Amino acid sequence: MEDSIAEVLKKNQLSVTESRRKILELFLQQDTALAHHDIEVKAQEKFDRVTVYRTLQTFLEKGIIHTIPTPDNSIKYALCRDNCEEGHHHDDHVHFICTSCGITTCLEEVHVPDIKLPKGYKTMQTEVVVSGICRACS
Ligand SMILES: [Zn+2]
Ligand SMILES: [Zn+2]
Ligand SMILES: [Zn+2]
Repeated sequence: MEDSIAEVLKKNQLSVTESRRKILELFLQQDTALAHHDIEVKAQEKFDRVTVYRTLQTFLEKGIIHTIPTPDNSIKYALCRDNCEEGHHHDDHVHFICTSCGITTCLEEVHVPDIKLPKGYKTMQTEVVVSGICRACS
């Protein structure tokens, strides 16, 4: 765990700080998405809101984590597994929200379909969020 944290930070040319280490650890510890609130709660004993916010912004810019839209407009974050790089994400997978346990998962193997738009419209990004019952709950 320590090794992979140091490795990810090094690969992205980020110096190792306490907050980066701790927050990255939270992401590496689980394979479901984390809500901004969860991260704040888990990191709060050590870091203030601003530090948590800045750390998340840095990870987003570096292509370490990506955001997931939710129906209630709260932000969720998940670790990037595709080859995301600084300023450019390739997370073209579907996200699944379980209405029973509330967990959000990256469905890495399910790609977002191409959506045909009328003439004159240009797609910049397509987000697909599917809600339903997850494997653990069904
Ligand atoms: Zn990404
Ligand atoms: Zn569930
Ligand atoms: Zn994802």
